[in-house]
Amino acid sequence: MQDDIPTVSLPSGVDVSALGLGTWMMGEEAHNEADEIASIRKAIDVGMTLIDTAEMYADGKSEQVVGKAIAGRRDDVFLVSKVYPWNADAKGTISACDRSLERLGTDYIDLYLLHWRGPHALRETVAAFETLKQQGKIGAWGVSNFDTADMEELFSVPNGELCAANQVLYNLSRRGPEFDLLPWCQKHHVPLMAYSPIEQGRILRNHELIRIAKAYQATPAQIALAFLLERDGVIAIPKSSHPHRVEENRGAADLDISEEDWTALDAAFPPPSRKVPLEML
Ligand code: NDP
Repeated sequence: MQDDIPTVSLPSGVDVSALGLGTWMMGEEAHNEADEIASIRKAIDVGMTLIDTAEMYADGKSEQVVGKAIAGRRDDVFLVSKVYPWNADAKGTISACDRSLERLGTDYIDLYLLHWRGPHALRETVAAFETLKQQGKIGAWGVSNFDTADMEELFSVPNGELCAANQVLYNLSRRGPEFDLLPWCQKHHVPLMAYSPIEQGRILRNHELIRIAKAYQATPAQIALAFLLERDGVIAIPKSSHPHRVEENRGAADLDISEEDWTALDAAFPPPSRKVPLEML
């Protein structure tokens, strides 16, 4: 029997799966497309229904792969995409979104993010996002790679407090956000979406992670994801182009880690004791 995947509530009240699927690097090589589509469909089948992409990924080809995978199943998916910072002015945001919709083969994106801070004033980007919402092209908007001071600034512009998520680098080996950004987001009810949740595979060789995983007959990736699922208001979006790994990652929701092992993980991957500037990949 599998446990349900936890959900996280967006400010609008919509509940989304706290475990989704990333798609960076998908669409790069045509010969991988069948596996990529199978992985996205597997994610939907096992309840990892939040699918994250961006106009940047493979120059739009990731969005095309996602579009093929979700064809006929659009309503089962919570779709996230992102606009390049240099496109995020009043007109550019609207045209970038239209191009993404075309590639995704849909008429709405559930959550549309500013990929990182760029040359355009936040108030202009927010106004464009609000226009997209009124047009029904997006359900909600958010940001990515915003540190605490960026969030404060965002909340000071008109409608900035309508931000529905902040997607940042957060995993066992990058716990900096726990010092101030995560508490800030929790206080303001802005879900934190953890990207590179298994550090692109690099943390999986950690001896302590391997030891703890063995004790639960689990894998290091599952423990790393369980660590994120344990936190309020955190969504993890591991990427895999292999359906069996997607299934493995979904198993993270079934783990029940003891206090003793959380403490052991804290010793191996210490939480921050002071402000650490937000890192980016
Ligand atoms: P992840 O931490 O998700 O790691 C992905 C890598 O780990 C891939 O090489 C994958 O290989 C491998 N992998 C996945 N599952 C397993 C497993 N169970 N065991 C062993 N290896 C595994 O890194 P990403 O950087 O891809 O981050 C996830 C998503 O976050 C991205 O895809 C993207 O959607 C988003 N992102 C957003 C950023 C932003 O600036 N907003 C920046 C970076 C990422 P394989 O595919 O071969 O299985």
